Amino acid sequence: MRIANIAGRACIVVDDDHAVDVAVASDGRYGPDPMTVLEQWGDVVAWATDLPEGEATPFDPADLECPVPAPRQVFAIGLNYRGHAEESGMTLPEFPATFTKFPASLTGPYAEVLIDRPAVDYEVELVVVIGRAARDVAVDDAWSYVAGVTVGQDISDRHLQFAAGAQFSLGKSRPGYGPMGPWIVTVDELDDPNDLALGCSIDGEVLQSDRTSDLIFDVPTLVSELSGVLPLLPGDVIFTGTPSGIGAVRQPPRFLAPGDVVESWIEGVGRIRNVCV
Ligand code: ZN
Repeated sequence: MRIANIAGRACIVVDDDHAVDVAVASDGRYGPDPMTVLEQWGDVVAWATDLPEGEATPFDPADLECPVPAPRQVFAIGLNYRGHAEESGMTLPEFPATFTKFPASLTGPYAEVLIDRPAVDYEVELVVVIGRAARDVAVDDAWSYVAGVTVGQDISDRHLQFAAGAQFSLGKSRPGYGPMGPWIVTVDELDDPNDLALGCSIDGEVLQSDRTSDLIFDVPTLVSELSGVLPLLPGDVIFTGTPSGIGAVRQPPRFLAPGDVVESWIEGVGRIRNVCV
């Protein structure tokens, strides 16, 4: 199942331009707020397996918004692909290097990104969306706490990121620095959720290309480790880290500039597209 936020309403996407409005189809039992649907995720999924035919109506993809518009907690993982840790000249962490993107930085899959700084970088990432409260979860059970996954960009102001030593979070949190979407894809739709191709291009030139099987801490390990520290709540998101190829380590550096078109994709999940202005 693919579930999207279309103009502020939770919708089940049935094809590229048709979707079922959850609140309409459930006579108001679920939705329309995408966050309340995540609170009731198990019930919504059970209900949605039996959706009546013919409920879908056309939608304009331009109306797709952030699929998780107001998470209570946003986790983001640094240095979580070997290639990226190497290109950054950092030693591999022994525990997930966790920071946050403050929720006001999150935005939609086709949102513009304001570039008014000299060292703004791109980072394609698999983003995990939590579907039920998780505490001290075992690795083998971890995927069952995940509502689904989506495509994210961890846009980063590299100057601000390193201006305060090891405290990354502000440099990752300017408005619009967290495009996500185009929708949440449930784990059952993925052939192997632990091995998905992902990539990022600027103006068609592919600058990042890897597979999530190269994650140092994979999704089950992240859910297990984080839930061992604090409760993960329905609607929380985890930006799982970016593969190699970021702009800051290129010679010369390749930072984002107005006019750049950033496309980010994950196999079996979708593609987002953000124009820099
Ligand atoms: Zn990142």
